[in-house]
Amino acid sequence: MRQRIRNAIILFFFLTFPISLNYFSPYVIIDGLRKGIIAGSALLFTTQLLSALFLGRAFCGWICPAGGLQDYCTSVNSKKIKNEKANWIKYFIWLPWISLVFFIGLKSGGIIKIDPFHMTNYGISVSEPSAYINYLFVVFLFVILSFIFGKRAFCHYGCWMAPFMVIGLKVRRILRIPSLKLKSTLSKCTNCLQCNSVCLMSLGINNMVNDSKMNHNECILCGRCVDSCSSEAIKYAFSSKKY
Ligand code: SF4
Ligand code: SF4
Repeated sequence: MRQRIRNAIILFFFLTFPISLNYFSPYVIIDGLRKGIIAGSALLFTTQLLSALFLGRAFCGWICPAGGLQDYCTSVNSKKIKNEKANWIKYFIWLPWISLVFFIGLKSGGIIKIDPFHMTNYGISVSEPSAYINYLFVVFLFVILSFIFGKRAFCHYGCWMAPFMVIGLKVRRILRIPSLKLKSTLSKCTNCLQCNSVCLMSLGINNMVNDSKMNHNECILCGRCVDSCSSEAIKYAFSSKKY
């Protein structure tokens, strides 16, 4: 039942992606800052960082339209992403971009206003034919990476939003903030490996359970491992404890 609800939510956000596209845009934040405007994407990225303090990366598992689209792509290629080291590619993309964001922000001479709807038409991102080209390009990027590399490849290799949430996770760990996470009970695990097969982020959850280390920066708290474990060895918890 929980996964049906999650699928319905994520489908809703994907279907409304033509409206929300610019709120996820790495370019809109730059365009806004050049004009002294805090745009919608700046607000969203900040919210993602703050939400990770209490909800981990649940945004990725439950809301992100790009994540949802990639989940649908698994019907074409459900290959697991095996090379964990390659997750660093997204930080090599993110670092120059965020540096540019700060550089332009400092150079612009101050913030004049906050406009969540910057570069939208009454709040709608895709409202004219040329914007559709942008939209289709972005969708193509998510789809082609998933088709070539497998499950949620863009989340692993290319996402400019994931690093904000990973920063939130790290701050949460340092400050021991109570938050949503996974909790395992090793004695209940039968090593059936069902959790490994359903994980949207290709994580070796069985090893995480065996090592009693359920904190993983790439875990998006989708709950598929929780719902697929017939032994109830994995559960959600809201706590400041380390599991
Ligand atoms: S990693 Fe990025 S693209 Fe993937 S679900 Fe999270 S925010 Fe969306
Ligand atoms: S470990 Fe579980 S909750 Fe985390 S991404 Fe994998 S299936 Fe989802």
